[in-house]
Amino acid sequence: MKSQDIRSKYLEFFKSKGHTIVPSAPMVLKNDPTLMFVNSGMAPFKEYFLGQAKPPNTRLTDSQKCLRVSGKHNDLEEVGYDTYHHTLFEMLGNWSFGDYFKKEAIAWCWELLTEVYGIDKDILYVTVFEGDKEDGTPMDQEAYDFWKEIVSEDRILMGNKKDNFWEMGDQGPCGPCSEIHVDIRSAEEKAKVDGKSLVNEDHPQVVEIWNLVFMQYNRKANGSLEMLPNKHIDTGMGFERLCMVMQGVQSNYDTDVFTPIIREIETISKTEYGKDEKVDVAIRVISDHVRAVAFSIADGQLPSNTGAGYVIRRILRRAVRYSFTFLDQKEPFIYRLVNVLSNKMGEAFPELKSQKQLIQNVIKEEEMSFLRTLDQGLVLLNGVIEHTSDTVVSGEKAFELYDTYGFPIDLTSLILREKGLELDEAGFHAAMEKQKSRSRSASEMSTDDWTVLIEDDIQEFVGYDTLVTPVKITRYRKVVSKKEGTMYQLVFNLTPFYPEGGGQVGDKGYIESPNGNVTYILDTKKENNVVYHLVKELPEDLNSVLKAGVDETQRYRTSCNHTATHLLHQALREILGEHVEQKGSAVHSKHLRFDFSHFSKVTNEQLQDIEDFVNARIEGKLPLQEQRNIPMQKAIDEGAMALFGEKYGDTVRAIRFGKSIELCGGTHVQNTSDIWHFKIKSESAVASGIRRIEAITNDAVREFYTDSSKIYFEVKELLNNAQDPIKALQNLQDENSNLKKQVEALLKEKAKNVKGELKNEIETIDGIQFLAKKVDLDAAGIKDLSFELGGTLENAFLVFGSEQNGKALLSCYISKSLVESHKLNAGQVVRELGKFIQGGGGGQPFFATAGGKKPEGIPEALEAAKNYVVKA
Ligand code: ATP
Ligand code: MG
Repeated sequence: MKSQDIRSKYLEFFKSKGHTIVPSAPMVLKNDPTLMFVNSGMAPFKEYFLGQAKPPNTRLTDSQKCLRVSGKHNDLEEVGYDTYHHTLFEMLGNWSFGDYFKKEAIAWCWELLTEVYGIDKDILYVTVFEGDKEDGTPMDQEAYDFWKEIVSEDRILMGNKKDNFWEMGDQGPCGPCSEIHVDIRSAEEKAKVDGKSLVNEDHPQVVEIWNLVFMQYNRKANGSLEMLPNKHIDTGMGFERLCMVMQGVQSNYDTDVFTPIIREIETISKTEYGKDEKVDVAIRVISDHVRAVAFSIADGQLPSNTGAGYVIRRILRRAVRYSFTFLDQKEPFIYRLVNVLSNKMGEAFPELKSQKQLIQNVIKEEEMSFLRTLDQGLVLLNGVIEHTSDTVVSGEKAFELYDTYGFPIDLTSLILREKGLELDEAGFHAAMEKQKSRSRSASEMSTDDWTVLIEDDIQEFVGYDTLVTPVKITRYRKVVSKKEGTMYQLVFNLTPFYPEGGGQVGDKGYIESPNGNVTYILDTKKENNVVYHLVKELPEDLNSVLKAGVDETQRYRTSCNHTATHLLHQALREILGEHVEQKGSAVHSKHLRFDFSHFSKVTNEQLQDIEDFVNARIEGKLPLQEQRNIPMQKAIDEGAMALFGEKYGDTVRAIRFGKSIELCGGTHVQNTSDIWHFKIKSESAVASGIRRIEAITNDAVREFYTDSSKIYFEVKELLNNAQDPIKALQNLQDENSNLKKQVEALLKEKAKNVKGELKNEIETIDGIQFLAKKVDLDAAGIKDLSFELGGTLENAFLVFGSEQNGKALLSCYISKSLVESHKLNAGQVVRELGKFIQGGGGGQPFFATAGGKKPEGIPEALEAAKNYVVKA
């Protein structure tokens, strides 16, 4: 069965059991600060499990893109070496939110595997949670009994907390699970070793394919468990592993998910998969990593220097390293695989098709820059090797190469080994640990349980319509971090505060108690659909009705910038073309930033057109037209532009100003004329194919014009109030460059005179024409003088000293014939004389210069110069 059919059979099967099929959420989620990437099928549904939002149906099914490269789930280092762990993989899932539980989940799992897919029962094992004393959780008898009805008991195995108890994080919903394992070894091998003994033992042909999680507990901050009021089902089956079983092969990489990419790698790199283990590992690494990188770029996460972007950069670099070292690829080539990938997966994941060009450009650019780094790193490493007298190379030096220049440690040790040297690995790891613990302690954070004051599940946001309103605190908790110290998060029954999101900053403001005491709200954020307000101290009276007020000025300025961002987006598509896609934005009260795809620099004329376009819409006084809580599809049908990071089931808000329509949760002005004016401050590149515009509106523009005009008048005054200051400045510049020319000519003239005078001072010692003299010339003048004077002499040895701007300068000229006959070297002479002026330098055997910071040493240096000729 083809992989496409395997995927759709899964979804169709659960559809027939009353599930709604939903598309994969993006791998980078908005509004989930706890997770860098979606690493399991349940991550996008967290708020449903926590009861903080309502799912579109109590039964859902999907295939979710997952990335396991950071945090709790990190498989990166395994990838390539084994045949069944990937960085990016698809997790097929069926979900029950307070609907069916163990009985159905177990029965349907078995029906799908054995009847729909026709997998032989005799290659399957299932596991059941054995219980845990410390947690006080019993063995999962319920699950055991349901399995017993359909599976023979010798195939049901008991599993411990590590394998059979699933937790979302340190806190939150969790529960026991049952895993399905397959044994795809040959009959011969099975006869030798019982499959049962290989389950959960990291055998490449006895692997877990599906995990059924029965969420029935909530883990509290103190570690204790309580029963959940609603029980849920969360299942995850590795799609690539299922394909391996269904297609009768022994490795995920031998399925049709990977073979087209592998064939392409073989063709481009002229290698063959399956001949040499090192080459095979490299090919697996590259075929895996190109998927991870391409999918995350398509989801809006570009490689960068920090956070999630840095993780993506590292994955790509890992692929480059393997291709550089084992496939001998010294030129970018991974980007060339994107075509095959998009042909293969573009149907199931259309974002790969629509963004192919961008993905290719970004990968190619990254490859080029990392290959340059590798080149530089090789040079630096050679330097380190040259300076090592020992056979062991310092781990700290290797760490510096790795940390500062991104030069990979495995490459370092490989090169050292080739040269018969050794790397001090312990030293490397110690340096690494030291750095890690530095950054860990900076980000450490502890979060208490919520203290609930009032039961209230869905909190209302009223901040589009009002900025001041009475509220009650429904719950609060303490959060302590190194960076921010102790803070409290407050949740209200309703709130006028906009939580950070969609690129817009969170509102600040205050809450006021009945007795007039004020507590400042420093920021507002959202997590799992709950808006919380950050305060430094708890208000005294937590139970009374408080007056909550948003900082109006800041909100107003932010709204101006947000509306201007939409107009800018429209302008860009209108003026640069429809290929422009939003790649990120930041809306602050003081400025706005907009990143978008475009392949060349935006010219000054285009920038002017864009600014004019936006200002025309501001002058056009366009009113805000807002539609709240409409289904996403409806808004898109009406012409709204979809945003990245949005997921299925979100109801959206459509914001219209004239012809600009966007899906947006942010705050906006009532009329574009409120913005007053829009001004672009800069245009630059963020990555290959991604440009950034920074701009300001309203008060910031006023300030900008006030400042600019102040500078203008000051400049004008400096120019004696010239009528036309630009002309006056140009005149000054012209005058300046004329004067420069004259000075140069005069200096040349002076050097000539000096030459005439100096000629008389030359002393002849043993047939050498010697002169050591302090002159008043700059470096260029001294050089001219040396060559002109030296050119007229046979065996010249000339040393000049000069003091310029408090610094000392020394030069040495030796005729070529003298260099040879007397084995003299000007470079060596200046290096040695340089000591008198506390400096150093070098050059060629016949001419060299040195600079130093001690002009007082010049006479001594000149004195010492004579020794060379006397000695010679
Ligand atoms: P394993 O022990 O094999 O690493 P896991 O216990 O980490 O698996 P789960 O977190 O239960 O796996 O994920 C559910 C399913 O997702 C697994 O049964 C497996 O089929 C698949 N899966 C997990 N990690 C990966 C990965 N890195 N690459 C491909 N598939 C994976
Ligand atoms: Mg794992």
